[in-house]
Amino acid sequence: MTERTVLVINTGSSSIKYQLVDPDAGVALASGLVERIGESISRIIHKHGEDTIEIEERVPDHGVGLSEVLRLFSTEGPNLQEAGIVAVGHRVVQGGKHFSGPALVTDEVVAKIEELIPLGPLHNPGHLKGIEVARSLMADVPHVAVFDTAFFQSLPDASARYALDNEVAEKYEIRRYGAHGTSHQFVSSAVSELLGRDDLKQVVLHMGNGASASAVVAGHAVDTSMGLTPLEGLVMGGRTGDIDPAAVFHLYRVAGMSIDEIDHLFNRSSGMKGMTGENDMRQVWRMINEGDANARSAMDVYIHRLLKYIGGYTAVMGGLDALTFTAGIGENDARIRAEVCERLAFMGIEIDEAANQDHGRGARVISTPSSKVTVLAVPTNEELAIARQALTLL
Ligand code: ADP
Repeated sequence: MTERTVLVINTGSSSIKYQLVDPDAGVALASGLVERIGESISRIIHKHGEDTIEIEERVPDHGVGLSEVLRLFSTEGPNLQEAGIVAVGHRVVQGGKHFSGPALVTDEVVAKIEELIPLGPLHNPGHLKGIEVARSLMADVPHVAVFDTAFFQSLPDASARYALDNEVAEKYEIRRYGAHGTSHQFVSSAVSELLGRDDLKQVVLHMGNGASASAVVAGHAVDTSMGLTPLEGLVMGGRTGDIDPAAVFHLYRVAGMSIDEIDHLFNRSSGMKGMTGENDMRQVWRMINEGDANARSAMDVYIHRLLKYIGGYTAVMGGLDALTFTAGIGENDARIRAEVCERLAFMGIEIDEAANQDHGRGARVISTPSSKVTVLAVPTNEELAIARQALTLL
């Protein structure tokens, strides 16, 4: 087969992350990022094979940033044409109720993503910039938008609706859209493939800096922990996850905080960061190992929240066949996996401690053969998933 590749782009308000993916081989041929766009000094990192090129220069806007990236592809390689580029795949966080799968980018699709800015104010504006400059600089290949929310468009009303006044909910489109859907879909289907079953009741725990849980039955999502926005659900690096919304009223009325201050507090300076001062789990464990009781208590909050979701989803699905840990913490942190699974012994879960400690790279089972639920650690790969979804539209 002739080689074909997809350039996957994830644009934020001041950054562009990219990967050139070979979707058939399942590998990245090159990757990199442009960060601090618009600041006095920006940084570009381009990786190709063993080579890493790092440049510090001013990148005033996304257009200049992407032109620099394309220049690096032609000077440092791989040459995009020779690498067989067939599409550009764009990650888009918020697709609202309009997108239940990937979409070929047209002016109408761009207008819809723009309309959805109020529901994705932190992400969609950056994605739009990325799409705009990429379409103008790479006009000869199709562009595909892949939405984080798409996998969760199948959520039943029972999990997607909030118990909010109906008129308000409909007028302002307030429902649970979820996020990280590309990862949950990729990982849950990898589990089905690995276990050779397409009828599984699964819980997938995506534990990175952002964190979310999903309940998946026979390949369809039936619940997920992120809601209207990625704030709801599990404890995260910098986000509270679930919190009584009345805390907002309280901070507004009693502390005199503005809505923007509360937004920042809940989305950026809470979670593990707010509780311990560190958002990296490795640092939290270091503090625990040094005897820091507050760090241990924060870890207990993190684990308690995971247990509530696993238990809740097991009840919603009427059983559980597979429990999977993924993303930075889920894939690498054997201790947290062991602590969670120990607490689930009542469900017949038995972890194989040697398998749990084995930091093999691929998808792997970490429970014993007699465990009532198969427990796995599975690397997620959102870029590969985006590239493969993009191909389905060509
Ligand atoms: P993002 O959500 O930014 O994509 P990742 O999925 O890459 O993040 O996860 C990043 C997080 O993974 C880090 O903040 C850190 O807490 C955690 N992490 C990475 N490696 C380890 C490790 N060996 N042990 C525990 N946590 C880890």
